[in-house]
Amino acid sequence: MKAAAFDYVKPKALPEALSLLAEAGEDARLIAGGQTLLATLNMRLSEPSILIDITDISELKGIALLGDHLRIGALVTHTEIEDSELIAKHAPLLKAAAPHIAHRAIRNLGTWGGSLAYGDPAAEWPACSLTLDTVMIIHGPAGERRISAQDFFIDLYTTSLEPDDILVATEIPIASSNQVFYFHELARRHGDYAVAGLAAVAKKQGDVLTDCAFTFFSVGATPVMASQAQDIVNGQVVNPDLIARAVSAARSEIEAIADITNSAEAKQHLIGVLLERGLKHMVA
Ligand SMILES: Cc1cc2nc3c(=O)[nH]c(=O)nc-3n(C[C@H](O)[C@H](O)[C@H](O)COP(=O)(O)OP(=O)(O)OC[C@H]3O[C@@H](n4cnc5c(N)ncnc54)[C@H](O)[C@@H]3O)c2cc1C
Repeated sequence: MKAAAFDYVKPKALPEALSLLAEAGEDARLIAGGQTLLATLNMRLSEPSILIDITDISELKGIALLGDHLRIGALVTHTEIEDSELIAKHAPLLKAAAPHIAHRAIRNLGTWGGSLAYGDPAAEWPACSLTLDTVMIIHGPAGERRISAQDFFIDLYTTSLEPDDILVATEIPIASSNQVFYFHELARRHGDYAVAGLAAVAKKQGDVLTDCAFTFFSVGATPVMASQAQDIVNGQVVNPDLIARAVSAARSEIEAIADITNSAEAKQHLIGVLLERGLKHMVA
């Protein structure tokens, strides 16, 4: 099937893109890497009358170290994240996660901001952004506003972005020297969306983990943090008994939802498998 007819514009600056968006209202769609949107247009799941191509807007580009945080522009591609030395040094969780996103050809075009804005609960970046306490920088008709990842992902493919908003960039606190991380996803084949995945960070002192953030993805309508499991682990010696209690808490606090090929029970089981592996890895 082919997409329905639409107009196409490519503004050079953010204010121009915002006014085009405000003018066209819900009839418009932003296009970044097009790796999700083009498929939805071709399947006629979405029929916008105008596409606003944001890929020439410089404010949306680049990765920069600004004091104690990293600024990642919305247009930064998955490949740029995978290859960036700044990311490897200051946000190693993202470096570990990037190769799991589809295949290199898709990663060369798909963007950090496009993935966050789309809000797919099976995607890697929304989960990582939650784990890393990311702040979303959004521009809309009323100017700039900042929203934490905790408040950004609302429901299935639903974020707090309004139709006339543009996600411009994000800010991520840089990793401290005692921070450890774990990223793993269970997928049928490399490059497939995960059946279940975990993006975790913590601070490590000996066998004790603190400041734990464990986010599971591809298990619910949004990425979900296992806050009770985090509370169990925070500040305690990680031993088999603690791991068993954390696994049990994570399995009961997260209500997994089935997808077309995997049952809720299978996902619930995998939540525990991932957490057990993650805790052992982080204290090793
Ligand atoms: C075969 C295949 C396999 C894939 N596998 C995976 C996978 O394993 N994991 C994964 O995470 N993703 C996967 N993807 C999706 C891919 O990562 C996309 O690149 C990503 O989801 C969307 O980024 P994009 O830049 O292509 O966005 P687009 O397709 O251009 O846009 C997606 C949506 O976000 C909106 N949008 C884009 N940028 C902004 C912005 N700055 N502000 C506000 N709204 C914006 C658009 O209007 C649109 O609604 C796969 C895609 C394909 C085709």
